[in-house]
Amino acid sequence: MRYLLLLVALICGCRSKQATFEDYMAYIVQERCAEVERIMGKPAGHLHVSVQEKPKGLRARAACKRSPDGAILYFDPSLENLPLSAWEVHAIHEIVHACVREEWETLTHDLEEGVCDRIALSLVPQAEEGMLQDIGSNRRHWMREVERLGMDRLHQLASRAKSEGLEEIPTHWLE
Ligand SMILES: [Zn+2]
Repeated sequence: MRYLLLLVALICGCRSKQATFEDYMAYIVQERCAEVERIMGKPAGHLHVSVQEKPKGLRARAACKRSPDGAILYFDPSLENLPLSAWEVHAIHEIVHACVREEWETLTHDLEEGVCDRIALSLVPQAEEGMLQDIGSNRRHWMREVERLGMDRLHQLASRAKSEGLEEIPTHWLE
């Protein structure tokens, strides 16, 4: 309830330009971080939110740049035009990237995207329909793979790959 009230206050502020879209995204990231850290079992570290134009040629409108003690989460200003649930989905997706540390680093690129999308949708279920259309068939496929395997099994595979000194989980392990 507290979250909801603050949320509404912030959106009103945002619309009347008292608070910026960047303030709002920083607030969502702060509020949602602990849930994501609990699911991933890793700290996200210090997160810095930056709203700026995406570099030309980059398709994604949000990105995460990890460092040893945290990450910078980038969001394109055009995201402000999307519904509130989409802001939350993008924020959570990038927090998950920030939590991809240690054994989770053995996830392939596609599996990592699948984990980010799966967790974002599980925490913002009302966004499901719009987001599923939005993310394209490849990402939908990998999100379904993550659902099929389950987070526990995926974590076991990641831990095994790490302990065997592999850079990535071999694809035949996913069968
Ligand atoms: Zn991503």
